[in-house]
Amino acid sequence: RELLGDTSELDVVEVGDGNLNFVYFVSNSQSPEKSVVVKQAPPFLRLVGTSWPLTRQRMEHEVAALRRFGALCPQHVPQVYHADSKLFLMVMQHLSSHKILRQGLMEGIVYPKLGDHLSTYLAHTLFFCSDLFLAPHVKKEAVSAAVNSELCKITEDLVFTYPFEDHPSNSYSPALPQSAIDRLRTSEALRIAVAEMKWAFMNHAESLLHGDLHTGSIMINQDETFVIDPEFAFYGPMGFDVGAILANLWLAYFSRDWHGRAEGEDPERYQQWLLEQVAQIWNGFSDKFLNLWRDQESRSKRHFIGDDPDKKCSEAFRSHFMRRLFADTLGFAGCKMIRRIVGMAKVAEITRIPDEAARAAIEVRCLKFAEALLVQRQQFDSIDEVLAQARTIRAQREN
Ligand code: ADP
Ligand code: MG
Repeated sequence: RELLGDTSELDVVEVGDGNLNFVYFVSNSQSPEKSVVVKQAPPFLRLVGTSWPLTRQRMEHEVAALRRFGALCPQHVPQVYHADSKLFLMVMQHLSSHKILRQGLMEGIVYPKLGDHLSTYLAHTLFFCSDLFLAPHVKKEAVSAAVNSELCKITEDLVFTYPFEDHPSNSYSPALPQSAIDRLRTSEALRIAVAEMKWAFMNHAESLLHGDLHTGSIMINQDETFVIDPEFAFYGPMGFDVGAILANLWLAYFSRDWHGRAEGEDPERYQQWLLEQVAQIWNGFSDKFLNLWRDQESRSKRHFIGDDPDKKCSEAFRSHFMRRLFADTLGFAGCKMIRRIVGMAKVAEITRIPDEAARAAIEVRCLKFAEALLVQRQQFDSIDEVLAQARTIRAQREN
């Protein structure tokens, strides 16, 4: 009542574009600006129906993660007003002037604060939930409280396993060459790289992850950016969240060749902006994360590596740490791109390309780039080198 005023007449509209859950806008029919979002988890995966049962407790993971991330980064996380663990629902802030980022990117909208906002979100959530900030026993309790086996299994299967097999859940666009599909199953270097990423996902409990940080989980306008939908949250490798965002920006980049032309413009300007966002997100994340880490150590006088008066060893460790995180980020981004091309859950910027040949050509470029990310993830020295590779693969399009 505090938020909605007189609740005797409410308008309730189902949003209808989520994959797993039911989401409703609930507003006061006399003053529609008084409005909240209600999200409820049914005992199955909404997109598929009752044939794919899922426990409703996933809502508790989502609520816990929204509250945790909201405490760390309130400017980028919708406020949870109320949660009901018997009805498996929550009531949250209605982001009424924000659009799903994937949609905005398909429309070619420039968001000037995107890179800055997302790099802040990543640095704060990933740093403050890790052993670099938390006391060891607090962190271990947090790991245990965030165990999310059921939803992790979905990722283990749909991101790291099925796309590389001949699996009935995969689907391929009609003109995608068989050789591109075969390559995913038979390239030893690729299969090893993917298995290494799967191992890291299952074993490296570094920080509390969002767990599904694609551009459909980000709501944005010219001034603000919010991250929604963290029901896949668990303690995992940091690069999984960073890689998920970059993967989706690269899918937007390669598919822009079609969407840009469809809108009668030269796609290159927007593609340039997309790559700048990738660079800003990685570089901004890396700078902000390192600054939080240095601040923390100078305040507490405790170095993660132990006593280190002139900080030389700490700085050297930091640079090793970021290099490994960068390689992880690229490897996870590669897996995320591949699953969106051949796996069960697709992305609109690819599926909405009606010209089959054009769509397949773009998909081939995405797969090529994803393979390079995975196989060469330890060889790339900077994000600029990776972006150069993306440009090279895009430039091969006329061949
Ligand atoms: P699912 O868990 O089913 O994927 P999402 O959390 O992604 O559900 O929500 C589905 C859709 O509902 C989003 O794509 C967005 O359009 C809308 N939505 C979700 N949360 C909000 C919110 N806080 N404010 C406005 N719209 C929202
Ligand atoms: Mg969603």
